[in-house]
Amino acid sequence: MKIERVRSRAVAAPMKRPLPTSIATLNEAGLLLIDLQTDQGVVGRAYLFGLGKHNLPTIAKLVETMADMVQGDAVAPFDLEKKLRAKYALLGVHNMVLFAIAGIDMAAWDALGQALGQPLARLLGGIPRPVAAYNSNGLGIRSPKELEKEALELVEEGFRAVKLRLGRAHAKDDLDALRAVKRAIGPEITLMVDFNQALSVAEALERGRMIDEEGGVYWIEEPIRADDFAGNARLARELRTPIQIGENFMGPEQMAQALAAGVEMSSHLFPEASCHLLAVTPTCHWLEFVDWAAPVLQEPLIVRDGFVVAPERPGLGMAWNEEAVRRYLL
Ligand code: MN
Repeated sequence: MKIERVRSRAVAAPMKRPLPTSIATLNEAGLLLIDLQTDQGVVGRAYLFGLGKHNLPTIAKLVETMADMVQGDAVAPFDLEKKLRAKYALLGVHNMVLFAIAGIDMAAWDALGQALGQPLARLLGGIPRPVAAYNSNGLGIRSPKELEKEALELVEEGFRAVKLRLGRAHAKDDLDALRAVKRAIGPEITLMVDFNQALSVAEALERGRMIDEEGGVYWIEEPIRADDFAGNARLARELRTPIQIGENFMGPEQMAQALAAGVEMSSHLFPEASCHLLAVTPTCHWLEFVDWAAPVLQEPLIVRDGFVVAPERPGLGMAWNEEAVRRYLL
C-alpha cells in the first residue's frame, strides 16, 4: 500500500465551554484534518490541534511539503518518520515541523490499521482496554462561583477526575479557585491543576507550598517553562504534590533528557489516538479527555464510569462528519 496524496483541511470546531488559561482563552478548537490517501483506496485520518487557528496555515504548508516528499512511499510509519526526520535534521525536528510529521505519522498508522482490519491498540500488540480519564473540558481561569458550577457539570458528564487551570496574577486568587472546586466536587473526585507554564521557579515554589498545605491536589502540571528541566526537577524535589510535565516534549529525545524510565505516563489531548497508545503503555496513568474534535467526528469517543475504551473499529477509528467539516471549514 502506497501513499498517493495527503490532503489537509483547517476547521474551527466550536467548544462547548470556552477555556481561559494563563496563556490565552480558547473559544474554538483550530484543527487541521489530515486525509492520507493510498493506492488501495484506504484513507488514513488524523488531526492536529493548532494551538490557535492562526497557526494552521503554516502547519498545513508543512504537511503539504512533507506529503510531496513521501508521495509513492509505502505506508510504513517507521520508515516515513525516519525519512521525514532526516529531511528536516538540519532545520531541527521541533515545534511545527514535528507537529506536521506527527500528523502524517498518525494518519499512516490509521491507514495501516484499516488495511489490516485492526484497531491501533491491537496492531501495537495490546487490546483496547478501559483507560482512566479525567475531564479536561473546562475549569479555566474563571471566578470561584463559575468554577463551582462547571466542576459539577464536568463530574456529571461521567468522570471521577477533573483538572483546574491556575496561574492567576495573585496566589490568593488561585487558592480561592482551588477551594471553590474542592468544595464542589468533594474528596472522592481526583483533582489535578495546570499552570500552563505561568510561573517562575521562585513563584512555583511559593504556590506549590501553598498547594501542599491546602492538600487534595493530585498533580501540579507545568508550573514553569516546559523546557526548564532543572527547575522542574527542583520543584519535584522540594514539593510534596507530584509535578506533571511532558505535553511540550519535542519528541522522545527531550523526554529522555527530562525523565527516568518507568515514570507514570498520562496523555495530552488527542484522546482518539491516546486511548490506543495508553492501552499499550506499561506505565499507563491518566487519559486527558477533551471533546474538541467531537463536532467533526462521526462517532465521538464514549466515556463510561470515568473510563475511555478505544473503539474496535480499525485504525484510530475516526471518520469525519463531512457536513460538519464543511460548516466549520476555514
Ligand atoms: Mn497542560
